[in-house]
Amino acid sequence: MTETVDAPTATRIPHWIGGRRVEGGSGRCGPVYNPATGRQTGAVDFASVEEVDAAVRSAQDAYPGWRATSLARRAELFFRIRELLHARRDEVAEILTREHGKVFSDALGEVTRGLEVVEHCCGIPTLLKGEHSEQASTGIDVYSIRQPLGVVAGITPFNFPAMVPMWMWAPAVACGNCFVLKPSEKDPSASLWVAELLREAGLPDGVFNVVMGDRVAVDALLEHPDVVAVSFVGSTPIARYVYKKATASGKRCQALGGAKNHMIVLPDADVDSAADAAVSAGYGSAGERCMAVSVVVAVGDVAQPLVDAIRDRIPKVRVGDGMDPSSEMGPLVTREHRDRVASYVENAPGEGATVVVDGREGVPAEGFFLNPSLLDDVTPQMKAYEDEIFGPVLGVTRVGTYDEAVQLVNESPYGNGVAIFTRDGGAARQFQFDVQAGMVGINVPIPVPVAYYSFGGWKSSLFGDLHVYGPEAIDFYTRGKVVTQRWPDPVTSRVDLGFPQTR
Ligand code: NAD
Repeated sequence: MTETVDAPTATRIPHWIGGRRVEGGSGRCGPVYNPATGRQTGAVDFASVEEVDAAVRSAQDAYPGWRATSLARRAELFFRIRELLHARRDEVAEILTREHGKVFSDALGEVTRGLEVVEHCCGIPTLLKGEHSEQASTGIDVYSIRQPLGVVAGITPFNFPAMVPMWMWAPAVACGNCFVLKPSEKDPSASLWVAELLREAGLPDGVFNVVMGDRVAVDALLEHPDVVAVSFVGSTPIARYVYKKATASGKRCQALGGAKNHMIVLPDADVDSAADAAVSAGYGSAGERCMAVSVVVAVGDVAQPLVDAIRDRIPKVRVGDGMDPSSEMGPLVTREHRDRVASYVENAPGEGATVVVDGREGVPAEGFFLNPSLLDDVTPQMKAYEDEIFGPVLGVTRVGTYDEAVQLVNESPYGNGVAIFTRDGGAARQFQFDVQAGMVGINVPIPVPVAYYSFGGWKSSLFGDLHVYGPEAIDFYTRGKVVTQRWPDPVTSRVDLGFPQTR
């Protein structure tokens, strides 16, 4: 969507191509807001097909030099990136709060989790080690190596404007690829900040590029013959579209989609701990996390005490401007999104759900705020259950047995994160065995894997085979090659038309 930019003081947010800021020439741009005030603060350029091509060419020009850069130098550079990011993490966290709305402490948490991926990439010499078999056949050795792909692209969502791009560019660049990032147009400034930091760390020009924009830029990347792989994170319909289009033209693609994360609470669970977890994971970052808990599945007679305990905690959640240190939950990203989320609360009674806490009440007049809402008696037929609401609306679904709870999760089209709360180790172990989701928490409400494992869901939460960051990212951003070598004595050489034998 192109909107007119009506704020004369709005900062222009350009592209980053070939190691410098490049103002867009397409004549199209979009507004960027501070969600806490509701006022426009920026105007982000929207790239044309030609501008995307310029970014890809810049990456391609940098590729031969970057892929030939030694592992020792790449590791050294990643240590420098790590130090700079760590030292200046407050700067980028403030950018996140001012454009996304999440509270500053949460923004710092986002940067820290992204930083862990950068730290993992400091070990790139070890991560890229191959295998070697001496004397596989007489006088013959066999070994495997992994080589970078070339120019790869990343397309990222609004909800983690620093961390999700780091999931992609850090391993891609460490593996020797050159990168073109298309961040969300809603909060694009963190990507420019990162681009400048990478230059300061010494990354050669052209290895990392940023094109700002909308669908035009995404399609241009997906159609560009010199982009060989695409990583995407965003909503399921766009993930499906990106995966289909990228793979149809022969590109490697991993496309992570949306989610509807269930938190199952068994009758033996500690009700206070479960309620603390539900409130933290349901309303943290205003519910705008792909791993947010969206549905609490209360099994048996834990339901009423649990609903009461969650309800009692909600008035204590401090909602306000994310730069105010006393705030625990900020606004939603845009006015349209806030209104869409609020509509689920409005429609809940008509669907048969009970509104226990109505977050539309008492919101500040300015900004895109919505207070936490709690819905009870939510059933799988309701929109409030089916849709990824992506806001501070927690639903409670009551079921009679463990089997019914697992069935709910397994019938969901999504399979990103899931959690179980119980004091029964046997039940938890059975759950881990039964449940169809990519990331499972046992008494952990947001089971985002540490950086040396990989992140990804099942079903409509991921299109493609390989998860992001960790070991699977190394596989995604490289191609394997197996070398068979012999150094024969020329006097033993002879013609042999038979198929090579190993024995
Ligand atoms: P989105 O799908 O609207 O946008 C993601 C990216 O796709 C953006 O860069 C956007 O510019 C681009 N895009 C949007 N519409 C497009 C179109 N029609 N054609 C081509 N490109 C298009 O997602 P969002 O609203 O920015 O982010 C929230 C979504 O991301 C939620 O569904 C959330 O669950 C998901 N998400 C998933 C994960 C995960 O790891 N699975 C992580 C974070 C966010």
